[in-house]
Amino acid sequence: MERIRIMSDENNTFGRKLVSILVPCYNEEAVLHEFYRRTVQVIDGMPRYDFQFMFVNDGSKDHTLDIMRELHGKDGRVSYVNLSRNFGKEIAMIAGIDYLTGDAAIIMDADLQDPPELIPEMISWWEKGYQDVSAKRRSRAGESFFKKWSSHAFYTILQKMSSVPMQRDVGDFRLLDKQCLNALRLMRESQRYTKGLFSWIGFEKKEVLFDRDARAAGKTKWNYWKLMNLAIEGITSFTIAPLRASAFVGCILAFIAILYMLFIVLRTLICGEDVPGYPSLVSIILFIGGIQLFFLGIIGEYLGRVFNESKFRPLYLVKDYNGETVMDQKGAQH
Ligand code: UDP
Ligand code: MG
Repeated sequence: MERIRIMSDENNTFGRKLVSILVPCYNEEAVLHEFYRRTVQVIDGMPRYDFQFMFVNDGSKDHTLDIMRELHGKDGRVSYVNLSRNFGKEIAMIAGIDYLTGDAAIIMDADLQDPPELIPEMISWWEKGYQDVSAKRRSRAGESFFKKWSSHAFYTILQKMSSVPMQRDVGDFRLLDKQCLNALRLMRESQRYTKGLFSWIGFEKKEVLFDRDARAAGKTKWNYWKLMNLAIEGITSFTIAPLRASAFVGCILAFIAILYMLFIVLRTLICGEDVPGYPSLVSIILFIGGIQLFFLGIIGEYLGRVFNESKFRPLYLVKDYNGETVMDQKGAQH
């Protein structure tokens, strides 16, 4: 039984393994041809494997979809999922994972910041038994000092607060074997912080080093506002440490308040009533008020997550797959 499963599941044409290359794309008309050309160059040098391109068009407003259609028309290895609108990279990735059929998948950005030349090395580690081979940035060409610094600070904070070990300087560029892919398919939260999910699932991990190039063309879809939102997403989806910290700080403040109250009562009893104390009173009220609002914000952040998840909406909607209209949506949450 086991043997039959392996034969039909993992062995495709003539017993070769199928590797899917998953590429979420949002307005990538400037680089998609070049991405395809360079990647094909690499995979053509690996005849022992079958490859599948799984492009996800994440509601692009330019000619990205036309390019996907064209590539699909001339190369049978190319498939594409056309989402009904822009859902963001995290969701585009799970859409691709739901649709791809490979024994392993390599997630890559379309902008050639993830060099396809690394694919053979990743696959060789996979063959050695590693299930999640991620590419770790050795350098960050084309990124500002502030971006490097803020990213470092974020990782440090996240690591301190969450119990799952987070991988540093590792992006979404990685190879995942079938077991990891199936694990990710089970994780249907709509507010996804995929990088955390990769850490969360565990399995045999391996990091390979590479130099991350600057974007080949087009421009990044990230700005500091989006990055900050992603950072909050990362923290709130992986740890409730802020909630605990706020309860903790609240306790300490309450304790200090009690001491201060005792002090006031005693002082009034001993020294009698005196009117002054207005400035200190106002500053205390402002301080406590500020802290309360801040903690309310934290609670709201988590409540918002509960709200969003409890709607049980599908994660994404697909307009068509390889040009065929999709009626049975795969993006359901559960
Ligand atoms: N992307 C996407 N949907 C979005 C934003 C980005 O699918 O809403 C894709 C984008 O096309 C690219 C990848 O995610 O293939 C990484 O995006 P980008 O290069 O802008 O991010 P950066 O490399 O600057 O982190
Ligand atoms: Mg990029």
